[in-house]
Amino acid sequence: MKKSINKIKNILLILAAMLFLGCEEKGVCVVTGNKLGSMGDPVSFKHEGKKYWVCCAPCIKKFKKNPDKYK
Ligand SMILES: [Zn+2]
Repeated sequence: MKKSINKIKNILLILAAMLFLGCEEKGVCVVTGNKLGSMGDPVSFKHEGKKYWVCCAPCIKKFKKNPDKYK
């Protein structure tokens, strides 16, 4: 009985990890590479019609100074 509960726990842990990793791909600041939310509320902006996410407002300035580096 206990063993089967442990199995279920393991499966849930793996699923949670997969979900977490899936989110992380999109949840990264394009300028610093920091996880969004780790520096406070993430900020989005549009550049040439495409939406980008960064960790903080100063990153938008950095992006706009040198967009080719981060696109
Ligand atoms: Zn930032």
